[in-house]
Amino acid sequence: TTDNINPGEVVDKSIAQNKVMIFSKSSCPFCLKIKGLLKSLNVEYVALELDQIKNGAEIQNALLEKSGQRTVPNVYINGEHVGGADKTFSLHTQGELLPLINKSTHNYDYDMVVIGGGSGGLAASKETANLGMKVAVCDFVTPTPKGTTWGLGGTCVNVGCIPKKLMHQSAILGGELKDSREYGWDTPETVTHDWGRMVEAIQNHIGSLNWGYRVALREKKVDYLNAYATFTDPHTIKTVDRRGKEKIITSDKFLVATGGRPRYPDIPGAKEHTITSDDIFSLPYAPGKTLLVGASYISLECAGFLAGLGYDTTVMVRSILLRGFDQQIAEKIGAYMEQHGVKFIRGAVPTSIEKIEEGTPGKLRVTAKTTDGEEVVDEYNTVVVAIGRDPCTSGIGLENAGVDLAKNGKVVVEKGEQSSVPHIYAIGDVMEGGLELTPVAIQAGRLLARRLYRKDSLQTDYVNVPTTVFTPLEYGCCGLSEEAAIDKYGEDDIEVYHSSYQPLEFTVAHRPENDCYAKLVCVKSENEKVVGFHILGPNAGEITQGFSIGLKLGATKADFDNLIGIHPTTAEIFTTLNITKRSGKDVSAQGC
Ligand code: FAD
Ligand code: NDP
Repeated sequence: TTDNINPGEVVDKSIAQNKVMIFSKSSCPFCLKIKGLLKSLNVEYVALELDQIKNGAEIQNALLEKSGQRTVPNVYINGEHVGGADKTFSLHTQGELLPLINKSTHNYDYDMVVIGGGSGGLAASKETANLGMKVAVCDFVTPTPKGTTWGLGGTCVNVGCIPKKLMHQSAILGGELKDSREYGWDTPETVTHDWGRMVEAIQNHIGSLNWGYRVALREKKVDYLNAYATFTDPHTIKTVDRRGKEKIITSDKFLVATGGRPRYPDIPGAKEHTITSDDIFSLPYAPGKTLLVGASYISLECAGFLAGLGYDTTVMVRSILLRGFDQQIAEKIGAYMEQHGVKFIRGAVPTSIEKIEEGTPGKLRVTAKTTDGEEVVDEYNTVVVAIGRDPCTSGIGLENAGVDLAKNGKVVVEKGEQSSVPHIYAIGDVMEGGLELTPVAIQAGRLLARRLYRKDSLQTDYVNVPTTVFTPLEYGCCGLSEEAAIDKYGEDDIEVYHSSYQPLEFTVAHRPENDCYAKLVCVKSENEKVVGFHILGPNAGEITQGFSIGLKLGATKADFDNLIGIHPTTAEIFTTLNITKRSGKDVSAQGC
């Protein structure tokens, strides 16, 4: 109650105690509008309804004296007089209202410091700045053992998704050049590929992206520090730039988005003589005969484009292909790659790598051991190791800040990407329990910023995230593999619908009929809800992106059956799947 308090005191206390204070009247349409606006922005406010209290008129007089404004609404933010409805609305339309509300009350240099200017870090820092906060992003690339380094943007842009997809495209074009003869083009029987020209074109594109990111940070008023950051205490980091210049920076909150780097096997010659995905996309010379060690995404994708570009390519597989993915499809990918020139050494790991000839690329002798204890020796010009990635969490002082790490070195987080230290968050490849994918890091960064500074509640959903492996035949999937679905629901409750198919474009080109494959994994007891979507074929990424919304919305097999196809496409196969795997019937591709 305000009845027995001096009106001037009511005004002063209300303003001092509430970040957003509205002196209002319950029936005033302008007041309702302002309250509606703040609600829509998830901003907490306190409204004193002057028509509902005894001394409302006196308080209005006191307000006139203090602010020079008699009318309501009379808005104060962070103790400052803003004005009435028009002024508040115009601040909102100029994008200045949220920054004013979010204005910090601490004494640190920044509201948020983001460590890592990759997919997640850039998204989070720009969104945080959009919401009016003072942000800095530190990004520093430690050169690879071969000395490769790159610009702003992190793994995806420089040594991941972007150059990988462009090299995949270069290999696809090679295949299409062959097809083009069947389609009437007088393409010569032998066409050659220039590795150096491809690398130069791709690196030029990456250079323009690096530049674009710097400009975007400047435009959004995010301070960019091209320096390596290390925590010295929970609110302080030390940054060191490439010239060794140090800077101490404090912040209210931190976001760790430092990503990961390729792991090297602990065998003689590995670091000295092999390269990783961090080097291959800017390799200044053609790789020649290449061995790829490892059998996951990175190894198979690189093997796919190297073979497609005409290099003698071998993959050394320790156990299975594509651990964690649907194994029926993983084996189909392997079979297709084998038919298209990739050699596989199964059940083997390298034990030593020696240089036997200098040069670019030079020559290496690789000794490996199979699971039967047999020794395998061969010579290659280039060895690419792709045996997993380590999170960049060691040597950055997280222990000084008290942040808990998991056994694998990733940052342990609670719901909301919050680490064991409440003001330190982690997203992207460095976060325990996440998914190592660019769009996941971006989404996590954006939503985190909105939850912290706009009071949104939306959390990143790590379930049913679509993904694609860009092997020569692309593999797109969303949801569970057949194995994971059986583990979760039991074999009897799973119905798998499947079919091989031949894209129309393959017919004239005389490409094989049954290499492409589609599969839906459904749960019988849940009205045949689709819990796994899998496609192996051209443009699988594009197709999977579209269908994944269906899985997110809980689509059933009947929903897929009711969907009318687009003819002639490959995606339409999902509207006509009618053979269950259980039936054992032939799923060979049918005509149109
Ligand atoms: P990053 O993008 O790795 O950024 C981290 C940044 O922090 C880096 O620039 C790093 O140098 C910097 N840094 C580290 N420590 C410090 C420090 N102490 N101080 C300052 N800066 C620091 N994902 C897909 O979705 N699709 C794909 O097709 C795909 N292909 C890939 C292909 C390859 C070869 C690889 C390696 C990855 C691929 N990924 C793909 C995964 C994707 O690139 C990552 O999931 C994504 O980049 C992770 O983003 P991030 O923000 O967590 O980290
Ligand atoms: P992964 O950790 O997924 O796989 C590592 C591979 O190396 C496995 O085949 C593993 O075999 C093998 N391996 C591990 N240790 C050794 C060893 N000492 N000797 C020989 N082989 C070994 O790593 P990746 O580097 O391929 O990928 C990392 C992540 O990057 C992926 O999980 C993915 O999320 C992301 N990514 C996404 C892409 C996309 O979206 N298209 C593309 C590329 C990467 P085993 O199965 O026996 O353990």
